[in-house]
Amino acid sequence: MLTVSQLRKSAFCPRQLYLEDVMHIKARPTPQIVYGLFSHSLKRKLNLTYPDVVKDLDTKQLSDLGEIKAALLRATDEILRTAPRVVDGEVVRDWMARRARSDIFIELNYLASEIYKKARDTGLMGRSLASLFSPWGVEVDVESRKLDLKGRVDKVEFRDGRYIPVEIKTGAVGRGIWREDQLQVGAYAMLFEETFGTTVEEAIVEYTRVGERRKLKVDDELRDSVRRQIETTKEILAMADPPEICQDGNGKKCSNCRFYELCFQI
Ligand code: SF4
Repeated sequence: MLTVSQLRKSAFCPRQLYLEDVMHIKARPTPQIVYGLFSHSLKRKLNLTYPDVVKDLDTKQLSDLGEIKAALLRATDEILRTAPRVVDGEVVRDWMARRARSDIFIELNYLASEIYKKARDTGLMGRSLASLFSPWGVEVDVESRKLDLKGRVDKVEFRDGRYIPVEIKTGAVGRGIWREDQLQVGAYAMLFEETFGTTVEEAIVEYTRVGERRKLKVDDELRDSVRRQIETTKEILAMADPPEICQDGNGKKCSNCRFYELCFQI
């Protein structure tokens, strides 16, 4: 069964998929990749921790935006302090921890404002208020026999009776949603539908570096693109030789790739 990570890789660079999954070449992760993995694991812990922070805020704290931010920041710093400092066999550098904190800080400000507004508008506190900020699930396994595809969604939210898969991205941010991110979260939406027997109309990609949650409609066009990418991925995996270096080879995309040095020697 294919994985959504393979689908994403094939959309990003077919050659990368081939080197890794057909030729089984191992390459050291770049600092950017180490940072992404580190930041991603922090975000997962924070998603689980923030609702507990909200639950413990008293009336006085909830009426003061600064107090809410301070409580969230204390929880963030504690998670950063105890986070493993080796990822994928590589040491997490101090600059990575500093940058992760600053990325999280953008989102934390947004979250604090949401908590402040919700508490003021609804009068809720404790568990009832926390439930408004708890994801339905974190790292949810999903699978489709029909699509011959499986994966793990970073987070699923449940709002107004609807499930919304959310993918967290810590890397470079474009104007909209990168094509490979669209395909990834679109695939998760389709897998979630089959796994849980429901319908998904919308998905979200969170770009942590700019603290933005960008929405994506899960329509027929996106579903067809996912199906086509599944076929393309299978074709690449069945090729006798590696695909050519990608069109913008040697450009920004390649310089951030863990195969940068090896790829041009093959
Ligand atoms: S270095 Fe460039 S062409 Fe080679 S695998 Fe990476 S992204 Fe693809």
